[in-house]
Amino acid sequence: MTQPKDIEIAQQTKLRKISEIAETAGLTEDEIEPYGRYKGKIDLPLTGKRQSGKLVLVTSINPTPAGEGKTTVTIGLGDGLRKIGKRAVLALREPSLGPVMGMKGGATGGGYAQVAPMEDINLHFNGDFHALTTANNTLAALIDNHIQQGNELHIDPRRISFHRVLDINDRALRNTVIGMGGPTSGMPREDHFDITVASELMAILCLATDLHDLKTRINRIVVAENYDRQPVTVADLQVGGAIALLLKEAIKPNLVQTLEGTPAIIHGGPFANIAHGCNSVLATRTALQLGEYAVTEAGFGADLGAEKFLDIKVPVLGKTPDAVVLVSTVRALKLNGGQALADLTTPNLDALQKGLANLGKHIESMQRYQVPVVVAINAFTSDTSEEIKLIQDYCQQFNVEALEADEWAHGGDGTTELAHAVVRAAQQPTDFKPLYDADDDIVTKATKIVTTIYGGRGVVLEPHAKVQLRRYAKRGWDKLPVCMAKTQYSLTDRPKQLGAPKDFDIHIRAFEPRLGAGFMVALTGSILTMPGLPKHPAALDMAITDDGKISGIF
Ligand code: ADP
Ligand code: MG
Repeated sequence: MTQPKDIEIAQQTKLRKISEIAETAGLTEDEIEPYGRYKGKIDLPLTGKRQSGKLVLVTSINPTPAGEGKTTVTIGLGDGLRKIGKRAVLALREPSLGPVMGMKGGATGGGYAQVAPMEDINLHFNGDFHALTTANNTLAALIDNHIQQGNELHIDPRRISFHRVLDINDRALRNTVIGMGGPTSGMPREDHFDITVASELMAILCLATDLHDLKTRINRIVVAENYDRQPVTVADLQVGGAIALLLKEAIKPNLVQTLEGTPAIIHGGPFANIAHGCNSVLATRTALQLGEYAVTEAGFGADLGAEKFLDIKVPVLGKTPDAVVLVSTVRALKLNGGQALADLTTPNLDALQKGLANLGKHIESMQRYQVPVVVAINAFTSDTSEEIKLIQDYCQQFNVEALEADEWAHGGDGTTELAHAVVRAAQQPTDFKPLYDADDDIVTKATKIVTTIYGGRGVVLEPHAKVQLRRYAKRGWDKLPVCMAKTQYSLTDRPKQLGAPKDFDIHIRAFEPRLGAGFMVALTGSILTMPGLPKHPAALDMAITDDGKISGIF
């Protein structure tokens, strides 16, 4: 019997009122602001509640284009922990409309492990991304208006680094010319659009620890250089207050539920390939305050999301993971072992055996931080027991437990074994070892990421990047943490180099200083900050009936 579609399962589930979920989470009536019947925002700070939960970070091997089910396993693990009597609270990212309308689809889990109401969460949710897009574009408009009104700060229109954004894949706006139409229509200049989830404001929202910190970070954003090549900031423009107030609701974490009623805090959603890939610090912190176990996901593979979680987010969060769950799938391991994408449901122990090197590399990378690792094998109906056993046997050499996670077909009942293993792992003492020192310069930091986490030789700076670094060093920006913008498909900067390659270099073509977020983005390979839509975007299959029933979102 085939399982109903995700959206059908979700629509058949009777949801609990958000007040009930808030109560389950341990929130008082004053701490939850209902947004309709099934969604809410949490009013921070939560007084009298200390951050004392165990932190579980869910990450994965290098994924297939469909994703390996990190979100699905994260949700299922939350439900599974509740099933074994542990108070779990989830902290997840909000979906971007780019992948929802494009190739990857929604980000609310799947099968019997979903967060709900999935249509709302996948579409406009509580409006955070719209607020971010508006705040971002308000700032862009204020920059252009400053130039129009006399340009007191001498902003060089050719050196504006702050881009407009849109939360949709719109390749036609990657490079644009604005200000056409004569003097009353602004100063003509080249402009660019990024996707909202790659914006600095998104990163700021996700790293800010409170409203004060949000304002401080916004004021630090460098928007341009002036004609003397000195940085111009939001503080110089005196518009930090306006931008921050547009985000006054967006900064509050959102509360929803899993189909089994586990509280899920969903807040912020930077992509992990072109941004830092983790939900907000406030959401994770709140989950740690409310739950015995806070279960959170970092985007894409451990080389991207988990590295950024551990090196960028952890210092702000002030809490290191008690366990890391590495999601792997038979299909992605076979892809990494050379099996064709169209053929991944065909059993192939040979390809699987070859692909296991990718899992091994990620296990080693995570163990490098000295945190306990558990491998979750996300079960697909096409898996064979020989394939599962091969993965489990392989993991023994790393002293790591590998358990099947069957949340897609069975919800929390399918992950109780995994939940027990995670509890066991999280009881082990940890001795977190950061990858780099705060004092290391940017090239040293990037090199440590490449050699230790990717398994490569080192970084090669292209001429433009070298020139940039010299200038940034003079400004004292050469010690920021590095946020690598890299393809999610490979440990290298080339999407087609799968498995666990060695002896490769990572090519950094440019840097983007993000002083507000507090990191330096390193653009590698041909990664773009505004993706395009595929030949058959998911949007083609979406519909809404005359009485409001939605289909085609998965
Ligand atoms: P990730 O978070 O790793 O990107 P998701 O959890 O969003 O991946 O899952 C990607 C897609 O795969 C979703 O459409 C989800 O419903 C589906 N999926 C996840 N796990 C399973 C599974 N075990 N069996 C079938 N489909 C699954
Ligand atoms: Mg996900």
